[in-house]
Amino acid sequence: MQQRQLTISSIIDYAAQVFGDAEVISRTIEGPIHRYTYRDCARRARQFAHTLDRLGLKPGDRVGGASWNHYRYLETFYGVTGIGAILHTINPRLFTEQLAYTVNHAEDRFIIADAACLPIFEACRDLLKGVEAYIVLTDAAAMPNTGLQNVYCYDEILQGADEQFPWREVDEWTGSALCYTSGTTGDPKGVLYSHRSCVLNAYAFNTPNGVGVGFKDALMPVVPFFHGNGWGIPFAGPMAGANLVLPGCDMEMGKLHELIVGEDVTVALAVPTVWLSMLEHLRQTGSNLGRLAKIVTGGAAPPRAMISEYESDYGVTISHAWGMTETSAATTYSHPPNGVSEKAALDIRATQGRPVYGSEIRVVDDADKPIVPEFGTPGEIRARGYWVASDYYKTPDKPAVDANGWLITGDIGLIGSDGNLRLTDRTKDVIKSGGEWISSIDLENAAAGHPDIVEAAVIAVPHERWQERPFLIVVRRQGSDVTAGDVLTWLSERVAKWWLPEDAVFINEIPHTGTGKIDKVALRKQFAVGKSGFATGET
Ligand code: ADP
Repeated sequence: MQQRQLTISSIIDYAAQVFGDAEVISRTIEGPIHRYTYRDCARRARQFAHTLDRLGLKPGDRVGGASWNHYRYLETFYGVTGIGAILHTINPRLFTEQLAYTVNHAEDRFIIADAACLPIFEACRDLLKGVEAYIVLTDAAAMPNTGLQNVYCYDEILQGADEQFPWREVDEWTGSALCYTSGTTGDPKGVLYSHRSCVLNAYAFNTPNGVGVGFKDALMPVVPFFHGNGWGIPFAGPMAGANLVLPGCDMEMGKLHELIVGEDVTVALAVPTVWLSMLEHLRQTGSNLGRLAKIVTGGAAPPRAMISEYESDYGVTISHAWGMTETSAATTYSHPPNGVSEKAALDIRATQGRPVYGSEIRVVDDADKPIVPEFGTPGEIRARGYWVASDYYKTPDKPAVDANGWLITGDIGLIGSDGNLRLTDRTKDVIKSGGEWISSIDLENAAAGHPDIVEAAVIAVPHERWQERPFLIVVRRQGSDVTAGDVLTWLSERVAKWWLPEDAVFINEIPHTGTGKIDKVALRKQFAVGKSGFATGET
């Protein structure tokens, strides 16, 4: 067989040649809808590659990207990787210090950002020592005023660049994209994807056991491209020749709905919180979802009732996917087999599903021994495969894999005899609210900094809209009459607004495990009382 490297540039070339008329439709940051084709996208991506080359970017160099999903950002996935450089996708929701840490750790030479994301760099520009220039993803007319130095306008620097600029030949194991996971405590850890892993992951995404996408589809990633390499969509969409519908930064349900119906979207992807809000919008407006046939949701478990309502009332099936930044996002998908009852099908849709070819999962016990699925015993989930991380970027002291080479996921669950994964818990001490991480330990430290607080613990409690919210449990200093309101006000000055716990309760003593850690299991038992919510008030 011919020796052809699996490279990202081959994807956009294929899309331009074979599905050159397929459209990329974007809601721009400026507001209006922009449409063009994969042919246009490939042409401009080459121009951007040429521009970066002219600016002196070398293979292996890193470029930070902070943007919502739109066509210009899509071009950069190909432009940057097309010269052998690495696109570091930045989550603009990160705190200033975390964001600065990732940019400095990645040693980003350039930052590309849309105008909506520029203020976060303005806020920490003095911390970003290695950044040589900023490229704003807009045209000359919409260039914002900024105090940043060396700022270029994307559309302007593309002018006159070579539309035929040849992609640099790269080995398929070369790094292509870098995404930091900020899930746990300590500094964020980088996951470096290779060309090969991105191509294979996109292949799997498009197969029916994955998302199942072809050229007749219109694919809408509501999930931002900065999450887990855009869940592979920047590559899977063009590879399938599907239309891509990119919603920009406007997450208002009416606006998303307008795109779904107006652009004949057939497959859409987002975290469960988005689909819960969309359901509310549909109920209120009495509207339908047009040609939408499939929703893929992940990042958190969707409520069973939601899966059922989409199917019965709107004819849309929900496939539930599981994965993480380290597994190039989704690597298992839930699909019920033919011929099972409605209830059994729903049961399977509500699991995290089975691995798609190219990845494997297993459950291990405390001694790292695999647990036989039929035993139905929960344990820690481990993963390996063509798009699963082997280590963290420039972080040799934090291994990503166990002694057997399987990724340590920090998720607890079991694999049923039907092969479907069912998550039951997490070892990672974090809260996932609306698809974004909240560190319980950071919250605890901030709360414990209050002069009248002796100790603080934060647990996740179920929440209908956000899936999880932080719940604060505190021990007050003897003789103090500090109130829950006081503690929350204190916290509001120290953490992001969306991190603020719903409530704070006081207890006399926080339970500890034998090793002196806060016993979260005991606290969850004590405070998470069924579906109705949780016990509040003094105990
Ligand atoms: P992403 O950006 O794709 O959400 P992260 O690395 O931030 O990736 O988060 C991954 C974690 O999110 C998983 O380890 C797991 O705890 C949780 N998660 C992901 N998918 C699911 C799911 N389908 N059901 C429940 N939890 C999930």
